[in-house]
Amino acid sequence: MAAKNRSSSSNNNITVAVRVRPLLRTESDSVVHVVDGNILSFDNRRSSSSVSRSKVSDIRFAFDRVFGPAASQESVFDATAKPLVDLVVDGFNATVFAYGATGCGKTHTITGTPTDPGIIHRTMTHLFTRINQLSETQSTFKTTVSYLEVYNETIRDLLVTSSNRAPQSQLDLREDDEHRRVTVSNLSEHSPKSVEDVIALMELGNSNRIKAFTEANAVSSRSHAVLQVCIERRDINSDMSRGNESNVASSLKIATLSIIDLAGSERASATQNKGERLLEGANINRSLLALGNCINALCSDKPNHIPYRDSKLTRLLKYSLGGNCKVVMITNISPSSTHNEETHNTLKYANRAKNIQTKVEQNTINLQLHISQYPKIIQGLQLEISQL
Ligand code: ADP
Ligand code: MG
Repeated sequence: MAAKNRSSSSNNNITVAVRVRPLLRTESDSVVHVVDGNILSFDNRRSSSSVSRSKVSDIRFAFDRVFGPAASQESVFDATAKPLVDLVVDGFNATVFAYGATGCGKTHTITGTPTDPGIIHRTMTHLFTRINQLSETQSTFKTTVSYLEVYNETIRDLLVTSSNRAPQSQLDLREDDEHRRVTVSNLSEHSPKSVEDVIALMELGNSNRIKAFTEANAVSSRSHAVLQVCIERRDINSDMSRGNESNVASSLKIATLSIIDLAGSERASATQNKGERLLEGANINRSLLALGNCINALCSDKPNHIPYRDSKLTRLLKYSLGGNCKVVMITNISPSSTHNEETHNTLKYANRAKNIQTKVEQNTINLQLHISQYPKIIQGLQLEISQL
């Protein structure tokens, strides 16, 4: 038996994209200009704050992709999450996350609307299409989905109904270093058979997601929402050609795709939060600060200590950032001058993330099966079928 065979040490394991949302009807003054598909310029002169006012007025940033206000949901998906699907069905972990201040388009990008769906819907549609294609040949798949939020440094299962709600205190993280993954104890897992099943699960999850009123935005998402799709792929190739009728090579690939809608990255001071909201703000910032510190540490030439343990979000994402994972960061910004300072901070954060270097490995276990083991395997499969 051999595990973990193929690896890729390319430095392109993180893709950083920036999406500029359209001006809203209440906004008139655009300070962000898309130069081309890779470059945007940011006019810093119109900053309302003396702190961020800089002598340099027009700052240019280069990213792997820049999407302007007219970019369609489809074009954003095609260039970001779509290429990850083939990797995931091939045993590589992958993560897509939306980062940015409240009101800049994270939820629009990740969830979208029923008539113009976002990354989750499009990714799951493409994933099920690929699974159906591959199932026609030698592969069998098992897909499980979980959806959680990290709110105030507490993990909550978003896919619970009042009947299956587990006590929140029991939802905690378990690091499984041997299999290079982090699991959440007592988190409900679901086995969707179609995109429609996934959408129904997302609707349940989104209605459970905590939203609260703050002065920064009428309805602002104060939690990090994390969708995790685990794909197990089993391939059986019999090697009859060389007279080895009794030996069958089998491989099991297991990969996790995470799609994350982060809480707003604005600072607590900008929202004039008080009391409970302030504590929330501190905890949300703690997770985002820790995420930023992990990104900084991963960007150093010789990353030795990555502070994953500093927050629940970064503990959860240990293998979804610098470890065994392909990462796509979609940075959402507003073009409006009223968000000038947040936009500048967000662009600086995204700019740092470009330097993350990771080593991605395929999670494959190769098994050399002898024909005498077949009855046991068939028994196991019959048991699985009888439980469906
Ligand atoms: P966030 O999740 O970052 O707080 P939202 O996704 O809720 O922000 O977006 C704020 C508002 O802007 C919503 O009304 C949303 O429909 C709109 N919006 C955001 N991005 C786009 C876009 N690319 N095209 C059209 N409307 C958008
Ligand atoms: Mg949102």
